[in-house]
Formats: sequence, C-alpha cells, structure tokens
Amino acid sequence: MENKKNTSIKDVKGLVVVYTGDGKGKTTSAIGVAVRTLGWGQKVLLIQFLKGSWNTGEMRFLEKFSPQVKIISAECPFSWATKNKEKDTAVCRKVWDSAKDYILNGEYELIVLDEINVVTSLGYLGEQEVIESLKQRKPFINIILTGRGAKKELIDYADLVSEINCVKHPFNSGLAAKKGIDF
Ligand code: ATP
Ligand code: MG
Repeated sequence: MENKKNTSIKDVKGLVVVYTGDGKGKTTSAIGVAVRTLGWGQKVLLIQFLKGSWNTGEMRFLEKFSPQVKIISAECPFSWATKNKEKDTAVCRKVWDSAKDYILNGEYELIVLDEINVVTSLGYLGEQEVIESLKQRKPFINIILTGRGAKKELIDYADLVSEINCVKHPFNSGLAAKKGIDF
C-alpha cells in the first residue's frame, strides 16, 4: 500500500476519462479529480470551451494555485442561445489549438477539456481529430472530457466513462442557479 502511495503519476499509464449525460455533476467531478491531482503535487490544465466568462467558485479557487494550475478559456464562449456555427467553430478551434500543444508536450499531468463533448457533438470540432491528439499524448497524462452528448467514438476510445443521469434538478421546479452549487 505504501508503495502505491509513493508511485509517481508519471510512472503509470494515463487514462482518458469521459463524464457525460444530462445530469448535474460532470464539470464538478472533473474539478474533484483536479483537486486530487494537485494534492499529489502534479500540475493541472483546465481548458474551458463553454464557460470562459463565467465567474464560478471553482475558478476563483483554482486560480490561486497558479502556476500549478493553468486555465485557458474561450475568449468569447458560445452559448446554447446564440448559435452561430462559423463564429463558434472559430472560437473552439482557437481553444483546441492551444490544448493540443499541451496534450503533446506533457507539461501538465491532468488536462480537463471541459464541455468538449458539446463542441464535438455540435460538429465544431471533429471527434476523429480529438482522438488523434489523445493517441499522441504523453503516456502518463490523464485527460478528462466533460459535457453532455459525448460522441460514440469518444466513448469507445476512452478508458473510463461515466454517464450521469438526471433524476431531479431544481431548475425544473423553476429555481434559479445557486451560488456554491451551480457556479
Ligand atoms: P456541474 O458544473 O454542476 O458539475 P454539469 O457540468 O454536469 O454541472 P452542464 O451540462 O455543464 O452540467 O450544465 C451546467 C449548468 O447547468 C450547471 O449550473 C448545472 O447545475 C446545470 N444543469 C446541469 N444538469 C442540469 C439538468 N439536468 N437540468 C437543469 N440544469 C442542469
Ligand atoms: Mg459542465
């Protein structure tokens, strides 16, 4: 047991993890893994495709751990309401281009691609292109892909997939998003 605790993350093959489904808890699960990773002194890269401009509690917290944590956010994240495929594709492409470099170079032991499943299911990024980069990652890197509607190809490629289903959500009873729970 002691041996296992002392094993470096870099000695073990990294995993590709998918958190998908329409229930709440995908991004917060990835943040939980980020906290675990940080606790072992490893570095975390968080890439936000969707929520770049949101002032969330987790971002306020993780920013304090710079440079052990790096956050890259879409400058102008797309939203569900204003879909403009051309513009949104360009925004996602820019974020993806910076993500790819880090996937290849291994500077960060954990990379979270937050909401990338939404991006690929809308066709703003090709899932095959994403899989090609995942295949070329430094072997020890753990990568988490979050977001509803993960493509079958990404699910097939991943090592660990959890689908979170919505049993009940206060939004459906007319309650607004709540500080500390939703953001
Ligand atoms: P969280 O960030 O809380 O882990 P998530 O990543 O699973 O949530 P997303 O699909 O990214 O969920 O949606 C983001 C926001 O939508 C969150 O504020 C969340 O509370 C809310 N949400 C998630 N699931 C549902 C649902 N089934 N019905 C209504 N709102 C939801
Ligand atoms: Mg999310």
